[in-house]
Amino acid sequence: MLLKVQKLSEKYYPQIANLREHFHQFPELSFEEFQTSQKVCEVLENAGISYKKGIAKTGVLAEIYGTKKSDEKPKCVLLRGDMDALPVHEESGVSFASKIAGKMHACGHDGHTAGLLGTALILNELKDEFSGCVKFMFQPAEENYGGAKPMIEEGVLENPYVDAVFGCHLWGLMQENTAQIITGAMMAGVDSFDLKFIGRGGHGAHPHTTIDAVLMAARFVTNIQSIVSRRLKPVSAGVISVGSVQAGSSYNIIAQEAFLKGTVRFLDDESQAILQKGIEDVAKAVALEFGGEYELDYHREYPPLINDEFGAKIAQKAFLQVLGEKNIITKAEADMGAEDFAFLTRARKGAYVFVGIAKDKNKPVLHHSPNFAWESENLKVLMQGEAMMALEFLNS
Ligand SMILES: [Zn+2]
Ligand SMILES: [Zn+2]
Repeated sequence: MLLKVQKLSEKYYPQIANLREHFHQFPELSFEEFQTSQKVCEVLENAGISYKKGIAKTGVLAEIYGTKKSDEKPKCVLLRGDMDALPVHEESGVSFASKIAGKMHACGHDGHTAGLLGTALILNELKDEFSGCVKFMFQPAEENYGGAKPMIEEGVLENPYVDAVFGCHLWGLMQENTAQIITGAMMAGVDSFDLKFIGRGGHGAHPHTTIDAVLMAARFVTNIQSIVSRRLKPVSAGVISVGSVQAGSSYNIIAQEAFLKGTVRFLDDESQAILQKGIEDVAKAVALEFGGEYELDYHREYPPLINDEFGAKIAQKAFLQVLGEKNIITKAEADMGAEDFAFLTRARKGAYVFVGIAKDKNKPVLHHSPNFAWESENLKVLMQGEAMMALEFLNS
């Protein structure tokens, strides 16, 4: 089977590399993937693959049914690729650099989109090798807002019922021709918060007549440092980072209000609850301490991304054939970055795979950087791995 998949990936590679360069030149931000989505439909249309568009605004769902006879109840597997770019101005110097000022595919989603199209073209030629259905989910807005959840809400996991989900991320921290497939927590869940402290503004020389919002903000930032170190179990992972503090206007005016923005990361629901409660407690305590008030807006965003044992096994089997055993990483720490593929693995069995793209493992390719660059050749591994995961699952 691998040989057939490899042959087809070679056949379609020139077209897929072109598509990747096209997507790279015309990056679109989260929920604005109109041209990208249109191009995806065009390729599917030309190949005679059926699809639905306009799911969660710009999302596309394609379907291919196998024709192999089977006595068992047919299964359905979903493969997902995200399509959005980032508000970064490209400085990579590649020949197919972004033509849109201030926008760039700096996370590899150009490759995820083109690669998933390649996988669809490959499996479209291998219909007689499987029974059941493969769905291809071209998802908007992974970087911002999250397109996976609304696509699930619009029914991509139903009709036919999806039994398992798989996806890949091209990963700059790993060497080319390697894949990481771990069991358990792989990427963090993420929440965010907006916090406002309300004091009483006044003259910098008369602090006793004021309630200092700057001091409340400073106390909060300091006091939350003990949440991870003292409330969370030492073996659980958690991050609370305040990324923005804004308050005050001049040397001699005590600020009336302070605004803070922060991010929260965790690997399980229990830790999430502990961190959220800790932030609420500290905000409340600080306001009480100073006699001011606070308004906390805590947003739950993406859950942690967990690969279950079954999904990880299928993915490992698939990539092992593509890359060989020594190039498969099965033991690694979770990454505290977040990924909304987590909504899919929360709803169904499955796994998410990192596919290496760094030429030299000592020189990682940094995601979201203006210099983010990688060779299109890596899409062969992506296409072959995705196709093999679908076939492994359907034929298992
Ligand atoms: Zn990203
Ligand atoms: Zn990404």
